[in-house]
Amino acid sequence: MNKVRMLYEGKGKKLYSTYEEGVLIAEFKDDLTAFNAEKKGNERGKGELNCKISSFLFEILEKQGIKTHYLKRLDAQNILCKKVEIIPIEVVTRNIATGSISKRLGIQEGSVFPFGVVEFYYKDDALGDPIINDEHCKILGITDKQEDLEFLKSQARKINAILKDFFDTKNLKLVDFKLEFGRDDKGEIILADEISPDSCRFWDKTTNEKLDKDRFRQDLGNIKLAYEEVLRRIVS
Ligand code: UDP
Repeated sequence: MNKVRMLYEGKGKKLYSTYEEGVLIAEFKDDLTAFNAEKKGNERGKGELNCKISSFLFEILEKQGIKTHYLKRLDAQNILCKKVEIIPIEVVTRNIATGSISKRLGIQEGSVFPFGVVEFYYKDDALGDPIINDEHCKILGITDKQEDLEFLKSQARKINAILKDFFDTKNLKLVDFKLEFGRDDKGEIILADEISPDSCRFWDKTTNEKLDKDRFRQDLGNIKLAYEEVLRRIVS
């Protein structure tokens, strides 16, 4: 399968059309951004690591019956995926408090939640991706159906249950993660985008060492080593 035309370039990936209708190629980039792209960087080899990690995790989810846009990994840095129309909501699920929830609600970093806390953020860079509720989703015209929003939440919870257990066996804590969903050509909502150390937080179960994009956000160094460690653990 070959790339025909670049359709879109995002912060972490480029999307290309192919000769097959409804099938795209996503290329994972080495670029890193944080704080609504105010901080920019580049880590050689990061694209490949995210491509491999994300592919592996989408394969696990597909095996557990979660419908996704993922079709297959083409090579080190490219996947084949179904074309979807992205729903402009970032669905964040949190198992442990850190990042924006600790700041916003004054919750001690590291507090373990009794259940996965699901939140919606409006995907809008100009507004800085504000947190939104169900009614905001409706007045923003994202959907007029409560059942769509309930579906996003229930998928996020199912995915959290699968991934949390999986990472636990790899001596990693799945602290929190962001998902994006899209509608396929039949209008069905399926999981899209990526699941990688750029979009999740992983802490080592024993030492709480951060093995994700917080290494870039907080200038902790060894970004690539951390992503390599995540890949090494999940494939072992
Ligand atoms: N996240 C993401 N993209 C975003 C915002 C957040 O992938 O635009 C992920 C982030 O990596 C973390 C989770 O969503 O795993 C929760 O992030 P949080 O709201 O704490 O944001 P931050 O502290 O990065 O501002």
